[in-house]
Amino acid sequence: MVTIRGRAKINLTLDVLGLRDDGYHEIATVMQSLALADTLTLTREESGIALTVDMPGLETDERNLAWRAAALVIEHCGIRGGVRIDIVKRIPVAAGLAGGSADAAAVLRGMNELYALRLSDAELCALGAQIGSDIPFSLMGGTVFATGRGENMKPLADFPKIHVVLAKPPVDVSTPWAYRAYDAHPPEQRPDNSAFLEALAAGDMTACMRLVGNVLEPVTERAHPIVGDYRSRMYAHGAACAMMSGSGPTVFGLFTEQESAAYTAEEFRRETGAAVYLTQTAGRYGV
Ligand code: ATP
Repeated sequence: MVTIRGRAKINLTLDVLGLRDDGYHEIATVMQSLALADTLTLTREESGIALTVDMPGLETDERNLAWRAAALVIEHCGIRGGVRIDIVKRIPVAAGLAGGSADAAAVLRGMNELYALRLSDAELCALGAQIGSDIPFSLMGGTVFATGRGENMKPLADFPKIHVVLAKPPVDVSTPWAYRAYDAHPPEQRPDNSAFLEALAAGDMTACMRLVGNVLEPVTERAHPIVGDYRSRMYAHGAACAMMSGSGPTVFGLFTEQESAAYTAEEFRRETGAAVYLTQTAGRYGV
């Protein structure tokens, strides 16, 4: 039996560079993993894939990315045997936090261990990229600059440990919808990835906080103005910076002081009734 965690991520920057011939968007993004994680337990079975999730409404068949990751490893490695996967879900769903990718990445690493497959990180990332663009990052964790569909990764110096308040407005945003809305009205203002990367390399956190930016934020905010409201509230509570993650709708605030992050989380819950999570940035797996 193997127990493994799949961590959530936020995007500190996210730019869309264009639409590719294969229908995917070319992106450039700095991704950051969080301590907030789902827990997955994998147990050997004689055959087949059995999946349970403690969150009602979430698929437990081949539509679940965790299921697909297990099927891919079984097929790729010619495994004669099956697996039971039990997921304790803590990452909010359809929130811009890559919860599904986190689970798929955890299953890839978990299967590698459970069946002693000795797949390298590069092999795991190649398998993960077949299922979803964020999965290679979810396998690696830490702070990464990703391009292409998100699968070309350049590991960066770890972003310093900082407290993160996540607030999910009561709406679900699907990633394909956000990209379609982006194509219809691409925003003019874009994040400056080069400046952010320079500031990070120089350890200039004040500049990093100023340079966070997400080109999808105005896109989702146009349909869901509550995103802007949540961002303003984060700033009003003293966040060093606040922004929507991925295609949203979750808004994160970064706080240098644990106390003020905890106070903000509490107040946010009281003021809005939102689903609020208090967590921290996390470094690379296994480092
Ligand atoms: P991303 O930021 O990668 O676009 P997200 O955080 O917006 O993802 P997810 O939480 O990964 O979104 O879920 C998107 C959809 O994927 C869900 O609505 C659900 O139907 C499906 N899904 C498949 N497998 C999972 C899983 N293991 N956990 C959560 N959602 C899953």
